[in-house]
Amino acid sequence: MASQGNRAPAIGIDLGTTYSCVAVLQNNRVEIIANDQGNRTTPSCVAFTENERLVGDAARNQTDMNSTNTIFAVKRLIGRRFSDTSVQSDIKQWPFKVVAGSNDRPKIVVNYQGEKKQFYAEEISSMLLVKMKEVAEAYLDCTVKNAVITVPAYFNDSQRRATKDAGAIAGLNVMRIMDEPTAAAVAYGFDKISENKNGKNVLIFDLGGGTFDVALLTIKHGNFEVKATAGDTHLGGEDFDDRLVGHCVREFKRKYNKDLMGNARALRRLRTACERAKRTLSFSAQTTIEIDYLYDGIDFSTRISQARFEELNIDLFTRCTDLIEKCLSDAKIEKGRVNVVVLVGGSTRIPKVQQLLQDFFGGKELCKGIDPDEAVAYGAAVQAAKLNGQRDKEVQNLVLVDVTPLSLGVETRGGRMTVVVPRNTQIPTTQHYVLTTIIDNQISMALPIYEGERAETRHNNLLGEFVLHGIDPAPKDVPKIDVCFEIDANGILNVSAQDRSSGHKSKITINNEEGRLGSEDIEKMMKEAEKYKAEDEEYRKKRDAWNTLEKYSYQMRSNLRDNSITKMLSFSTKMNIEDAIGRTISWVEQNPLPQVGESESKMNELKTICKPIDK
Ligand code: AMP
Repeated sequence: MASQGNRAPAIGIDLGTTYSCVAVLQNNRVEIIANDQGNRTTPSCVAFTENERLVGDAARNQTDMNSTNTIFAVKRLIGRRFSDTSVQSDIKQWPFKVVAGSNDRPKIVVNYQGEKKQFYAEEISSMLLVKMKEVAEAYLDCTVKNAVITVPAYFNDSQRRATKDAGAIAGLNVMRIMDEPTAAAVAYGFDKISENKNGKNVLIFDLGGGTFDVALLTIKHGNFEVKATAGDTHLGGEDFDDRLVGHCVREFKRKYNKDLMGNARALRRLRTACERAKRTLSFSAQTTIEIDYLYDGIDFSTRISQARFEELNIDLFTRCTDLIEKCLSDAKIEKGRVNVVVLVGGSTRIPKVQQLLQDFFGGKELCKGIDPDEAVAYGAAVQAAKLNGQRDKEVQNLVLVDVTPLSLGVETRGGRMTVVVPRNTQIPTTQHYVLTTIIDNQISMALPIYEGERAETRHNNLLGEFVLHGIDPAPKDVPKIDVCFEIDANGILNVSAQDRSSGHKSKITINNEEGRLGSEDIEKMMKEAEKYKAEDEEYRKKRDAWNTLEKYSYQMRSNLRDNSITKMLSFSTKMNIEDAIGRTISWVEQNPLPQVGESESKMNELKTICKPIDK
């Protein structure tokens, strides 16, 4: 355990596609921590401008003016390859630029302080994590280091590793990468531990901004045991927004014969309006999407009904129920035996989604008792407290058992997927498999490691490949190679292989680093993150000093016009003050971002002159 007995609390972070949320467990209560704007969730958005870097609400609020440098949905890139079809289709929709970096890793290109800069998804995610860490630190009034970060249950090995790396870049000690549905189940069950004596089958239905997860757990006393998970890392609210955007683009084309595709700003504005309309349609039967000067001076307005919205998305909604079937069949539990269905994620507010779900379970009431936006962070905070050695009895009695979402295996002759760890195996786990050679006197063997459910490896996802050397020469089929798959509690995999023949041993651990940042990269990025933070602070200080000077100048000008303040002053003193204020205001206008010292010395000068009117 990373930090038994550590005094500083550990936090739980839900690093969402669209929103992130941070929570902490203190005095047996989970607190969802509001950010500096008073919001309990923070947009997962990072923006770069001429002068500064913005994270969260501030970044999102300036999106329309700066769409090509405002990054969102980075969770859809993390741990994926640039050539991945889902990355390719996302890029087409996004106003910001993504290019291929080394090892086919996507890099995000922005203009920052007048320079072109490129960032990996891990770096952007780390900026969000730093923000959440700061939100927690402001509330707790101490430095926070230890954290549990959640990921969709369906995240694969490289997406999990990349998320962990993002945490390291943010200067966090990531105690655990936790599955989102498990965290939500903890949020549901934590205060009901005494009610769960006989065991309950709980289905977590988590439909967020970018991902869909479903998990079946049994909860008995404090034991939360995941039986199976299923999901889609690319199904969520943003897809519903895309469908609405597509609908409006077609409508615009039909009405005005003009194509909005390719116009980043128009698309961004349209997407914001569509997201808003989608939310409204969760509560009213129809709404209007209206945007002034959308394109070529045209004001766009269209009416959309709930029924039309549902029709546009019905295949995506039914995909959710298909995945529930898969999850239940993997868990070997019939739907009639599900005791509770818990809704998590903002997109579960869509009435049609709720209706399909309720119909699927034969009219069963859905559990909406926990806030769908906060449940995941809540559960993560409980897990963080447990790992941090918090002594509360309930926390320490909590036992969480997760499963691996995808089958893991090695490629054998003819491109076959030989599964070593079947999907939905409980973790942590160690599984062995014995391989042999295919030609006489073979002294080395390549071991490509895959994840996925297809029989042929070419349809699955290659995690990495390593070569085992030093096999004792022998006729084919004779050597015995022990292959060992080890999955830790974070769902992260290590594979090793060992030749068993005649005492001659050789062992190697899988090199699964290709799609991942090296430790040197991480260290470099950690330093850069510090540098960016320092730059942000310096910018803020400059801006604050400048603001204070400007505000003071105008205040003095107003005082100077107030007869009750100036009546005792001579004409020449007033002229002198007026002159100084005028000079300062024009200096402020001409120098939008001076050094702190410059603003301060102007301030001191002006203060001295304005003393007679500084009331
Ligand atoms: P999450 O990732 O769980 O924070 O979910 C965010 C997603 O939920 C975004 O795509 C939102 O547009 C969506 N969302 C939030 N509120 C609503 C609502 N009332 N109706 C439909 N979708 C919503």
